[in-house]
Amino acid sequence: MVYLNGNFIEKNQAYVSVMDRGFLFGDGIYEVFPVYNKKIIGLDSHLKRLQDGLDAINIKNPHSKDEWTKLIHKVISFDSIHLNQAVYLQISRGSDENRKHTYNELKPTVYIQSSAIKPRKKSMLLDGMSAITREDIRWLKSNTKATSLLANTLYAQEAKSNGAEEAILYRDGIVTEASSSNVFIAKNNCIYTHPKSPMILPGITREKAIECAKTNDISVKESSFTTQQLMDADEVWITSSTREIVPITSIDGSQISNGRAGPIWSIVYDEYQSLKS
Ligand code: PMP
Repeated sequence: MVYLNGNFIEKNQAYVSVMDRGFLFGDGIYEVFPVYNKKIIGLDSHLKRLQDGLDAINIKNPHSKDEWTKLIHKVISFDSIHLNQAVYLQISRGSDENRKHTYNELKPTVYIQSSAIKPRKKSMLLDGMSAITREDIRWLKSNTKATSLLANTLYAQEAKSNGAEEAILYRDGIVTEASSSNVFIAKNNCIYTHPKSPMILPGITREKAIECAKTNDISVKESSFTTQQLMDADEVWITSSTREIVPITSIDGSQISNGRAGPIWSIVYDEYQSLKS
């Protein structure tokens, strides 16, 4: 069962108009909420980012925080089998009578679904994953979680074709983020990640990983680093709500450090796991 515009219905019965601007233009905002045993991690932060996204593209938020919370919990409750879920919530600008670039105020289309997630166990991450690097040619509003994700999906597909977990992006030699995750490096017992800016999505897992590091007295610098520093790092990780914190030990075919997940990752990973209970 899913939620669409006021109704809880079977997913295969959920349809939107071909005039929906989400379909025609990718004109919408989305969020993904990780859920463990019915507990949503970072609910307030996700709802805040949703509001920021709607504000950025001038869509009026159709629901209050309380209404969203109830709707999300209701959708979660439909799956009684899977303990770990990812709730996907999308708001598009709505449908107009004709296709045109400009818009009048429309009734937003609201869709919520939940699907099972299976974050990998720590033991499966110890060898780390591989990544490729690509030039970041996305627009300079990448801090807006817009449904128009063409560049990101193409990067993700390229990573997949290369047998890699992710495509790490760089702009003018500076690592920004990855196709669907944020990027961290560790060097000399300090971790670094690109500062919040229009060039990256302000990941909620990024924020949580920073908090987890600080709780364990690990130094954190929200400052950018180059592709050379990425390759020379002691550790590289990516973070996202559905993947959590994943070590990267090979980039563009070159081994990172000793080719194993590092000790700082291990501490931050364990601390993050404790947020679930
Ligand atoms: N950057 C991009 C481009 C993303 O699409 C995502 C989400 N998949 C992230 C970073 C990570 O954000 P979060 O931790 O909130 O899932």
